[in-house]
Amino acid sequence: MIMKQREEPRKIAGYEALLHRLPERHPKRERIQELLETSRAGYGGEANLDRIMFHFQPAFPAVQLRNLELGPPYAMQADTIVLTRSRLVLLEVKNLQGRLFFYSNPHVLVQQRLDGIQKTYTSPVVQVQEMMLKLDRFMRKADLMLPIEPAIVISYPSQIVEKPPDDMRLLAAREVNFFLSGINEEKPLLSGEELYSLGRKMAEAHSPYEPFPLLQRMEIGMEEIIQGVRCPGCGHLPMVFVRQRWRCPGCGAASRDAHRAAVRDLLMLSGPIINAGDAGRFLGIAGKDVPGRMLMREGLKATGNTRSRTYEWVR
Ligand SMILES: [Zn+2]
Repeated sequence: MIMKQREEPRKIAGYEALLHRLPERHPKRERIQELLETSRAGYGGEANLDRIMFHFQPAFPAVQLRNLELGPPYAMQADTIVLTRSRLVLLEVKNLQGRLFFYSNPHVLVQQRLDGIQKTYTSPVVQVQEMMLKLDRFMRKADLMLPIEPAIVISYPSQIVEKPPDDMRLLAAREVNFFLSGINEEKPLLSGEELYSLGRKMAEAHSPYEPFPLLQRMEIGMEEIIQGVRCPGCGHLPMVFVRQRWRCPGCGAASRDAHRAAVRDLLMLSGPIINAGDAGRFLGIAGKDVPGRMLMREGLKATGNTRSRTYEWVR
């Protein structure tokens, strides 16, 4: 049973929106491009494991939690957790291309990319050990204890492990179902009811990381980005609003709702609370009435009287 599904991290859409709006020569472009690629690769590897685990149909009761994020005091993010009546299996997914060296004493992960660049990361062994302490604390507080069995999962066969970790199980993603199905459930520590109760408690404690407003987080000013409505056809910025329609000076396309994507961009970049005047300046529409109506149509929550009204993105 899957008690917590995985969703695409919201920061991915945020980085994409920001890259569309940063001038070609902006000094932070490269950094954001890198963050976007890392986030996409991470999510891609995790989603690949989800597709493989579709075929995990064990004969014993099991609960899955995919991308569990716990806020303070735990402050942790687990890629995939599988709970059974006898253990908590913690799967940390890695999607780093090239040759991988898991060194210990001290722990470090070295990646040799195919383009020759060498990068060093915090070892997933250390990440997993930290998570184990936190999950242990969570279970103790819930008074539902299970021993934790960790494993690092390599998403794709194109990742070549030159040196596996000395002190932690390493699985290829396609080995995970076989590994999990072999779990010995002869001596359960929890009843089925307790197992589901622990799963529910973890799912309820999920508290997703808030990546927005992205401009503030990346320390980029509103005046540094290209404002306006982007043409859905050719990507040109900005379109012009004429007689209730958006027109593209680049390709000539016309649209009635091209502003919707720009409103979403604005919310991710400087939301969640905006006012109609600022939205109008961003979209390139004079006044407050038309932008105000556009914001209402996006389902934002309006607060305050006409003059000081703000619109909030509630999720
Ligand atoms: Zn166009």
